[in-house]
Amino acid sequence: MLRKFLKFKFKLILIILSLFLYLEFGILNPERAKYGIASGDPFLNQVVLTFDDGPREHGIQELLSVMKDCDVHATFFLVGKFAERYEDITKLIYNSGHEIANHSYTHPKLFKLWVEKIMREAERCDEVMQNLNLRKTMFLRPPGGGFNIKIFNAMRRMNLKLGLWSLNTADYTGRPASEIINLVLHGVKPGTIILMHSGVPNTVQALPEIIKGLKAKGYELVRLDDMWNCWRI
Ligand SMILES: [Zn+2]
Repeated sequence: MLRKFLKFKFKLILIILSLFLYLEFGILNPERAKYGIASGDPFLNQVVLTFDDGPREHGIQELLSVMKDCDVHATFFLVGKFAERYEDITKLIYNSGHEIANHSYTHPKLFKLWVEKIMREAERCDEVMQNLNLRKTMFLRPPGGGFNIKIFNAMRRMNLKLGLWSLNTADYTGRPASEIINLVLHGVKPGTIILMHSGVPNTVQALPEIIKGLKAKGYELVRLDDMWNCWRI
């Protein structure tokens, strides 16, 4: 009898907890939760190229000139301390029409930090962008992509959205350009958000073929904020 009662009580606690989490945070579905985006509208032929961990000195001119020649814009998740160090490169990226978004100030694993520390990391990155007179971003990408309730809590207080990805090229592993191209062109579908990194020579080398291939498949390459705004609910 007691065992049955305890079992029932446990179930009741689980139900109440689930209800609380649902009411408090909504359904945390990775496609488009209330708190961010991991891929776009599956009925629109849009794709986003994202570049993390910049700005880096190496390869940026080539990267920007490829995108200029192809008339496409991307989203750069910049690390605040690097943006501070390479102010001119940061402004160059921004003035070339690309979106600059928040990738923290020192690139720590945010999910290991307390809410206040998470907020400080995001705020410091925002402050650097503000000092450069860049428009405030609505997106935060936690380094490594790991997230939890503490990060959602911090983002809600800062009015930031989670900007994740749905296709990881793992270009940082040193894989050849041909592999990066194949991975993107075979893995892409409407709404794909592609993760790449700044300062990777093979990525710069792969980019012209990637853009050409995506366009040939009928995709429009947009920035993350454009993809967000185009979502039809
Ligand atoms: Zn990163």
